[in-house]
Amino acid sequence: MPDAVELIRAKRDGRALTDDEIRWLIAAYTDGAVADEQMSALLMAVYFQGLEPRELRAWTAAMVSSGERLDLSAVPAPTVDKHSTGGVGDKVSLILAPLVASCGAAVPQLSGRGLGHTGGTLDKLESVPGWRAALPVAEMIEVLREVGCVICAAGPGLAPADRRLYALRDVTGTVESIPLIASSIMSKKIAEGTAALVLDVKVGRGAFMRELAAARLLAQTMVGLGHEAGVRTAALLTSMDTPLGRAVGNAVEVEEAVATLRGEGPPDLVEVTLALAREMLALAGLDADPAAALTDGRALERYRTMIAAQGGDPDAPLPRARHAQVVTAAESGWLRGLDARAVGVAAWRLGAGRARKEDPVSASAGVLCLAKPGERVEAGQAVLELRADDESRFARAHEALSGALEIGPEPPGAAPLVIERIAEA
Ligand code: URA
Repeated sequence: MPDAVELIRAKRDGRALTDDEIRWLIAAYTDGAVADEQMSALLMAVYFQGLEPRELRAWTAAMVSSGERLDLSAVPAPTVDKHSTGGVGDKVSLILAPLVASCGAAVPQLSGRGLGHTGGTLDKLESVPGWRAALPVAEMIEVLREVGCVICAAGPGLAPADRRLYALRDVTGTVESIPLIASSIMSKKIAEGTAALVLDVKVGRGAFMRELAAARLLAQTMVGLGHEAGVRTAALLTSMDTPLGRAVGNAVEVEEAVATLRGEGPPDLVEVTLALAREMLALAGLDADPAAALTDGRALERYRTMIAAQGGDPDAPLPRARHAQVVTAAESGWLRGLDARAVGVAAWRLGAGRARKEDPVSASAGVLCLAKPGERVEAGQAVLELRADDESRFARAHEALSGALEIGPEPPGAAPLVIERIAEA
């Protein structure tokens, strides 16, 4: 039987671990036989030494095998999911799942909660009165069969090794490792049982990956892992320098998602959503026009059915914050930049996000971008509206936004939102 200390030394010194060693390590850590301090050291060794493609394959497969792999064969439509690496104002999943379902695919969106400055899909939907994120597997499959889409929490049986590893990485400075991120994301998606997957890898100031080269490598790594596991996978690299759409928070993002499903969405959000929808439909082998489904009410109807199937009332008013303050333009000119990270941190400090995974979030807190880059603003004009239930939160949100607006005499140059498509490792 391998020995944890031996494996730590081996990885520290740059030796590739064998498949058997990796299988043992992940299983022993999940069972508690390898201690957190040993796994911490090993993760740091992986952070510095990386994993070879074969090791990464074995590592990901071992994480999938640590739990159940869902069987979606009872679902009559082709299954296809989307995963985003996380952005500010990224409410795409709320729109995309019903949109793609209304075009004939089945979308099993097992999502997580937000941590840090990027929000989580479940936190957003939980602002809808009555809506339930926690569904037993049988109910999740039933909603998927009946409605064509479901957005719910990944249950404890899905890649449990990742749960433990991710929590440990969070407190040991080992999150930012491409093999560890890729295996973490892909193990959950492979275990979910989807036949196809589109990855939205965000790049820029508000993203995990700020540099294009790193985002491209992460996308290629995940696409490769998907193909090797038999999941048809493609990735889009999309820009995350500026918040997506105008709303950042929970209830405010649900409102914007519903407006988009009514055909009244902001152009950047619509563009990214449709680009991802087209990729998903192509991978599912469906020839349908998602733009039409967004304007003729089909996608909205599907969203309402999905919310109701999970106990929510799609007609109930959403929570509204008690207090609002604005950030104004210091001068007149063109808004050239609006720092996504600063806006994400402000929304988080207003209560929309959590610092630790046990923390509650405020449904009503958030930031509205009243102007977006490319628009003219006048000195004194309100550019951002901050919302919170607790007035004491405003001061630190304003601090986060210091320097977030860039105003100049010229309009900004056009930058593509969809930067690159990656379909092969
Ligand atoms: N999201 C995940 O699920 N895992 C990571 O490692 C990073 C982001």
